[in-house]
Amino acid sequence: MSANAKTPPPEPDGAVRSLPLEGIGVAPGIVIARALVYQHQDVPLFRVPLKRQEVTLEVARLQQGRERTKSQLTAIKERTVEALGEDHGYIFDAQILMLDDPLLIDRVVEIIREQRVNAEWAVKVTLEELALVFDRVQDEYFRSRRGDIFDVGRRLVRNIAGTAEHTLDELERDYILLAENIRPSDTGQLNWEHVAGLGMEVGGRTYHTAILARSLGIPCVVGVSGLMDKVKHGATLILDGKAGLIIVNPDAETLTEYRAKKRKEAEQGKSLSHLKDLPSVTKDGFRVVLQANVEFPEECGSALEHGSEGIGLFRSEWFLTRGKRSFPSEEEQFLVYRNMAAQMKPWSVVVRAFDLSAEQLGHEVGESESNPALGLRAIRLLLKHPALFKEQLRALLRARAHGNVKVMFPMVSGVGEFRDALAMVEEAKHDLRRDGLEFGDDLPCGITLEVPSAAATADLLAKEAAFFSIGTNDLIQYLLGVDRGNDQVSYLYEPLHPAILRTLRFVVESAHDAGIKVGMCGEMAADPLLVALLVGFEFDELSMNVSSVPTIKNIIRNVKASEARAIAKESLRLATVKEVSAFLGEELRKLVEES
Ligand code: PEP
Ligand code: MG
Repeated sequence: MSANAKTPPPEPDGAVRSLPLEGIGVAPGIVIARALVYQHQDVPLFRVPLKRQEVTLEVARLQQGRERTKSQLTAIKERTVEALGEDHGYIFDAQILMLDDPLLIDRVVEIIREQRVNAEWAVKVTLEELALVFDRVQDEYFRSRRGDIFDVGRRLVRNIAGTAEHTLDELERDYILLAENIRPSDTGQLNWEHVAGLGMEVGGRTYHTAILARSLGIPCVVGVSGLMDKVKHGATLILDGKAGLIIVNPDAETLTEYRAKKRKEAEQGKSLSHLKDLPSVTKDGFRVVLQANVEFPEECGSALEHGSEGIGLFRSEWFLTRGKRSFPSEEEQFLVYRNMAAQMKPWSVVVRAFDLSAEQLGHEVGESESNPALGLRAIRLLLKHPALFKEQLRALLRARAHGNVKVMFPMVSGVGEFRDALAMVEEAKHDLRRDGLEFGDDLPCGITLEVPSAAATADLLAKEAAFFSIGTNDLIQYLLGVDRGNDQVSYLYEPLHPAILRTLRFVVESAHDAGIKVGMCGEMAADPLLVALLVGFEFDELSMNVSSVPTIKNIIRNVKASEARAIAKESLRLATVKEVSAFLGEELRKLVEES
């Protein structure tokens, strides 16, 4: 990932006016650091004809660019492996190998020589030729690797042109990274170790980059309009990820105030650590299991340290597919699931089947989908790609023989689709039997309830599913018709909308009537303001980012289920978000005073 991000200049001498910028706080914490302003920049490409005597020099430019690209990729690979483990290095190995591939480099040299054009242009032409080849290949995995070669190609072009001197993956000290948008697909190549805080112009609380920042404990503010115009490289910033505030060039008094706040925050964090081994139960004995949402298996340790009782959502597609050269084999997946279950024992690990979009699968349709959120993704995509789906199911079934693994299917829209998924589970079992492999016949199959049509038919689905986990991040966007990643409409993205509350109640009641458990794995579960409401709805489980577990447990231990039920009942009578929000705020205030 590269940028025209320059090394921040020294601190300005003269007094600079302090400027507060408001956004949406999506990952709590206070950071004080310099700004690194990141802008995507593609090199403009021109065809430059060469004189005969210039050709050799041009080939040398290409070779220099290639060497620079190789050493960058090697360094990124080393850092990635160190941070995320050996498995995550493959993509870079593959990219480094591509730089020695005759299909790429020899062809570029040939074009420079034969057509007497500049190296950048020759790379562009070669990539276009390769794109045609990739498009014709039937093998899906191979086609899906198309993105890698283009990544390498773009990096190569930047290095030939000498515009890639400053790249995000070369960061050597801690910055607050500011960008218009760090797309979820960019995050794999970011050297997070040096990102102390993150601010973006786009996004909302449930945008995947925001979720990742929370998982990694990086304070983050999104939806800050005009951010890129108002902040210069190297400016001192205070970022408050809870309040949703970025203060540019703070004065001495503000700095002192925030340093004190930061110390207090650290002390508060420590004060909840004693809750780790205490049960998550209300004052009057109502039990709510608190689980963790994780993107990487390495987070299991942290989940346990924070007192979570299992993994309520493992976003399997992140760890297993992002930044990888190919999809993981059944064996690789089996080991990951089995190890996670062993670590979390006796608690369960709920693995969400790959929630991939067509684009992430490298599918051509991805580029033509005008609305991927409503397109071919999640269970729809898995059912269209039975080999991929079955491989994951086989791995899960085999892991079930060793531990408490469960699976849930994302974006199920109704009973018919759920049955199709269950039929695949049966097929996978049949195949495993045929192959003589050990597996757990009793793998619980649940539903990530996040599509309105599924919510409306929750009573029917509950008769066939082993459990429900409500994915409010998507359910809210689909039910209210509000894009979860669009800051322009984020004011409408309201978990407390009466439509949401009624839907939650219906889903919980449907689950309980059918005798199955119901949890919530959307971000709503981690909001302290909403805990009493969710307890009042009688959720069995709440699953959230690891760092929120102690705070939510603390609240649960301080409420009475009987009072929470009354709060839920009253909330359901209110007509607007504002009324519900004010009511819940008041109830929470009373609770804090009483405790
Ligand atoms: C959800 O939709 O609420 C959810 C938990 O999944 P994701 O945020 O990955 O879509
Ligand atoms: Mg979802």
